[in-house]
Formats: sequence, C-alpha cells, structure tokens
Amino acid sequence: MPRPQYCRNPACPCAYDPPPGWLARAGTYATRAHGTVQRYACKRCGKGMGDQTESMHYYAKRHLDLDEIFSRVRGGSSLRDIGRELGCSRTAVANAVVRLGRQAMACHVDLLSSLELPGKLVFDGLVSAVTSRDYPSQIQTLVNRSAELLLAMTHYVGERGGPRTGKQRERIEQKRALWRPQPGALSESIRLLVNELPRFVGRGKIRIDTDENRLYTSVINADLAMRWYRQTQQLTVVQTPSTVPRTTSNPLFPVNYVDRMIRHRMREHTRESIALGQNSTMQMLRMWIFAWDHNVRQPYRVNDRHCSCRAIEAGARVALVTRLQREFMSRRRSLRRLQVPESMRQVWLGRLATPPVHWRKGQRTIGPALRQYALLDLRFARPAG
Ligand SMILES: [Zn+2]
Repeated sequence: MPRPQYCRNPACPCAYDPPPGWLARAGTYATRAHGTVQRYACKRCGKGMGDQTESMHYYAKRHLDLDEIFSRVRGGSSLRDIGRELGCSRTAVANAVVRLGRQAMACHVDLLSSLELPGKLVFDGLVSAVTSRDYPSQIQTLVNRSAELLLAMTHYVGERGGPRTGKQRERIEQKRALWRPQPGALSESIRLLVNELPRFVGRGKIRIDTDENRLYTSVINADLAMRWYRQTQQLTVVQTPSTVPRTTSNPLFPVNYVDRMIRHRMREHTRESIALGQNSTMQMLRMWIFAWDHNVRQPYRVNDRHCSCRAIEAGARVALVTRLQREFMSRRRSLRRLQVPESMRQVWLGRLATPPVHWRKGQRTIGPALRQYALLDLRFARPAG
C-alpha cells in the first residue's frame, strides 16, 4: 500500500511541495477490503490520511485485480463477462474500469507534458455507436505521425440519418423525448480537438493530415491558434481522399493504423458489433485504457518484441515510463501542476452527452458516479486554459 506523497488539503503547502518528514504516523484502522491501514497526519495542517488515500483501490468495497481487468477490457471483454470470471458484480468491474480509465488519463498527461514532439499530426474520426445503432458515435483521434502515438481524443454521439421505416421513426421520436444531440455537437468535438492540438507540438511548423471532410477545414480555418500558424506560414493542412489505398505510403497511415488496432482490439468498435458501449463516458474511459496500452505497453512494432514502446520511440525518458508503469496499478497518478485538457476533464467528470439506455422506462442518464476523491484529484491539476 502506498504511503501518501502529498497532503490532501488543497490549502496546505504540503499539498504541492511537502518537505522531508512532513508526515506523522497516527495509528491504524481495520478495513474489510484492505486489511489494516496505516493512518498519518500532516504535521503542517493536521490533515488525516492513510495508506489508502493515494491508492488505486481507495474507496473500493473490494480489492479487485486491476491488472487482470485492464487486460480484459483491452481485450474487448464486456463488464458482465469480466465480473463472471472474477466472481464479482458488473458494477464492481465498472467501478474498476473508471479507476483505470482515469489513471490512464493522468499518466498520459504526465507523460505528454515531458515530450517535445515534431509538429506532424494526423487526425480522423472513428465511427462507432453508443447504446444502439440509432446513436452513432464518432471518436476523433489525434495521432503523432512518427511514432503513431495516440495524443488526444474527443467524443461525439448523434442520431442515425438515412431512410427509416415507419416503426423506426416512431421509436426515434419516443427516444427524442428523452434525449437528442445538441445541434453542432460534431463540429464542437472537432473544434475541441483542434483547439488542444498545439499543446502536443513544440515551437515550429505544424503539418496536419486529415481526410476530405469539409468540417475539418472549416474548424481549422476558424481556430484562432491555427490562423496564427497559417498567417506566419507555419501551418500546412493536407487532405487525402478516403478512396486512396490505405497503404503505408498513404499520408493518413498513422491514423488508419490506430483505427485498425482499435477495431481489432476492442469489441465494441468492431464493425457490426453486437456488444455496443452503453454510456459515452464509459466508452471514452475504455478508449483511454486502450490508448495507454497502445502508447506504453505495446511494442512499437508488433513483430519485434524487443523494440521499445511508442512513448519511448517518441522520446519519452525510460525512467519516467518505467515509473509510470510500475505504479500504474497501485498509486493514483497525481495531476499536480499538470494541465488537463478540456476533452479529458469532460470524461473525468462524466459530462459527455449520452443517450438513455432504458428509454422505454424513461431513464434519463446513467454513467459512472463521480466520487469526492476523484473530484479532488482533478482539483490539484492546473486550471484549463
Ligand atoms: Zn497538510
């Protein structure tokens, strides 16, 4: 169990820069889930903490095998399947997925803050669905060209277009009484991604590759930072038709490759899937688990088991990657002094738009509950902007 590294009181100086010996032992207490837990108090402000405070299992009713759940989620198993295998409820597994997804985001932010990447980026939308085919979702992914590192993702869920039968129309009308997508939500999700794009490149030229989607051009043209890059002749946008063969020489190869891995590895995104995600936030938490695995746990080239991961290939320090990996399943990564992009905050806080699941019964929203501790974790991050 990890001993706290920081004070949990946001107003205390030890919350950011604790001096050596800031923590005093203050007895123990017994828990059913985690056994005997050591308690501490901050010598500066008196705030009480325990060995569980920074743990990945904090506030969990049961000590689940997070390693196992991570691998199974990444392998595409459903919550119910995992629960059956591990002998626990679907809700307990969902709770673990939320923890792992947030941890993946926190570690991602930490990792990316230390990287200086070249300005060559590729982005595209992966079409999937939430709850049913009536609600197609689109996950915009931003990928770095040289190492196919997955950098940022935004989420959109809309309604199915095209011709419908009378019965389908009736069903859609009933569902609409409960939920409908916000007008312009798709371009808003692209706007968010474009807005966050400059944080991933050092100073210098940017080249963006996309497909011929007109929304992309209009969003890029409207973005203030992108305009500045263009006016100073530092921006090149190249659009490649989706009809161009998807070979390695295709400029969209990095993002096509990532899309293929997502569809291959995660059952909810395989074409014609019958195991669709039930909630947008959960869908994105799983995507972040995938992203962490893709960036840090998988080798850069699949047929070469000895090569390093994409993060190291892209220039991340081996020591940092090793530490993040070593502590991933045990200690919640601190967001202190890190800037969490808006797209991630939305996932962390469970604010993504999501269609109702049990719409006949009139259910409005579902999704992971946001616990106080997770809210406090996010509060230690640098404000957005
Ligand atoms: Zn304190």
